[in-house]
Amino acid sequence: MEDRILPEEKRRNIPRLILVTPCYNEEELIEKTAAVMAAKLRRLAAEKKITDSSRVLFVNDGSTDGTGRILHDLCERDPIFSVLSLSGNFGHQSAILAGMMFARDKADVVVTIDADLQQDIEALDEFISKYMDGCEVVYGIRNDRSADSFLKKFTANMYYNLLNALGGKVIKNHADYRLVSAKALEALSGYTEVNLFLRGLIPTMGFRSDVVYFDVKEREAGKSKYSFGKMLSLAMNGLTSFSTRPLRLLGELGFVTALIGVMVGINEIIDWSKGENVPGYTTILVALIVFSGVILMSLGVLGGYIAKIYMETKRRPLYIIDNVVWKDDNGNEGGADDRNTCG
Ligand code: UDP
Ligand code: MG
Repeated sequence: MEDRILPEEKRRNIPRLILVTPCYNEEELIEKTAAVMAAKLRRLAAEKKITDSSRVLFVNDGSTDGTGRILHDLCERDPIFSVLSLSGNFGHQSAILAGMMFARDKADVVVTIDADLQQDIEALDEFISKYMDGCEVVYGIRNDRSADSFLKKFTANMYYNLLNALGGKVIKNHADYRLVSAKALEALSGYTEVNLFLRGLIPTMGFRSDVVYFDVKEREAGKSKYSFGKMLSLAMNGLTSFSTRPLRLLGELGFVTALIGVMVGINEIIDWSKGENVPGYTTILVALIVFSGVILMSLGVLGGYIAKIYMETKRRPLYIIDNVVWKDDNGNEGGADDRNTCG
């Protein structure tokens, strides 16, 4: 329907793109990645899909290897590169947010992409064309997970299903490869939560959005920087940030078990009044163990939510900027100070 295209969106100019790339100990591949990214941006600019002033912004998430030095060298060599260095390792989600918040008043669109280029950079054309069609957010969705181990595939699948069953608004097989327009970034800056799960947060903002499919590649060098612990914490964050249903389930579970307890109790009284022997310790033992388990589990879930409330009340910054190398269009160095930062 022609009418769906608003007049304002008909006038969309070609955007200035900032590619935000979090890096944590990526010295083995960052140089190659940078070359691929610069070539891609220049190709897109030559095809008039993005402006010549488009940039790559690396977010150095407290790397302890040579990544920081390499990134600064890259910035010296080629003005297309910039680097935002955080004061320590704040994790993938915070690093992405730091980059997006820094870029939000400098770009028309930001695309976040991992430093290992597992996400196909050739999909950028399609991201941009969806933006030109009027989308404020474009989600990159992996076509298949063949590059992942069976275990990762299996757990990821289970996790998405669980999240959706619990009422989370998560897009399946979408990680953090996405385009966000300046307008949507402005909206995102209004969210103040400390427990960050961008994948769940961004879809709740609304805006016109679309998806782009891409093929996942193998990591070419280095190891995955997502340790099991980091992955588990992200997964738990996702669950508890977007669903309070576990709390309700707990209540229901408690109610059902209590009901069973009452019924067992009544049964015992009836047996006793008939003078029948009460069965031995087994019943008691089983009941004790089962109910202790239920109580402990409930406490664990409650504790999880309370811990989150505790963290939220502290209002701690999600990241701290140590230094920035950013040249504006006139070649002047510039910096920024933003929400959640004190750098
Ligand atoms: N990363 C980061 N901080 C961290 C862990 C990872 O900035 O604490 C970056 C990493 O350099 C990469 C991206 O996040 O650019 C995704 O990490 P990785 O490829 O190791 O994760 P996987 O693809 O294995 O899930
Ligand atoms: Mg990766």
